[in-house]
Amino acid sequence: MDIDDLKESYNPFPAPSPLEKVLLEELVRAAHLCYERGWSWGTAGNFSLRGSNGLIWQSPSGFHKGALDSKSFVAIDLISGLPRSPTGQKASLEMPVHRGIYLRCKGAKCVVHAHPPSLVKATLNRDSLVFSGHEMQKNLGCSDHTQVLSIDVSPNQTPEAMVDFADRMDPYLSRQASMIILKGHGAYVWGETPLQALGYMEAIEYLCLSQNL
Ligand SMILES: [Zn+2]
Repeated sequence: MDIDDLKESYNPFPAPSPLEKVLLEELVRAAHLCYERGWSWGTAGNFSLRGSNGLIWQSPSGFHKGALDSKSFVAIDLISGLPRSPTGQKASLEMPVHRGIYLRCKGAKCVVHAHPPSLVKATLNRDSLVFSGHEMQKNLGCSDHTQVLSIDVSPNQTPEAMVDFADRMDPYLSRQASMIILKGHGAYVWGETPLQALGYMEAIEYLCLSQNL
């Protein structure tokens, strides 16, 4: 055991495992791609990873997504929702939605939330998004382009209402795709890896753009 291992073993605060560190780097890459595309400019968007030992690694509040790095993530207790990080950083205000997804969806290993402009525009005046005839639907679980993909859109929530929304989000958990969409706001998508979740975000944004919604 070298000195770094000793320091790690004496650290009373949680730290990501080696695998989680790799996944956090991938999640940061996904966040930077969202930023570069204008889907999470400034402090918009938030990102998280399901950790071991009942933890969530959540992106911090008020952090510019073009400058997000893997050491900035805040450890959150999955059950209580309380922070367990020594950094003093606050978790994103939308953390309760991430937590609600992890509590309900066992297959969710990471959550990507962004504000892609075509999706935001398409949902301003709709209660659901319906697609058919697009090859891209296969990226969101359809067997082929002839299957209809229908996703309900939730009313948007104020930051103060996010905790309450996390308790009543079930009607808006899509039964077809791994996502929740908020009206005029954006989408929360989840997957087994950050790049899989990012791919789902790309697919729904492409569908909204190509259908000119
Ligand atoms: Zn948002």
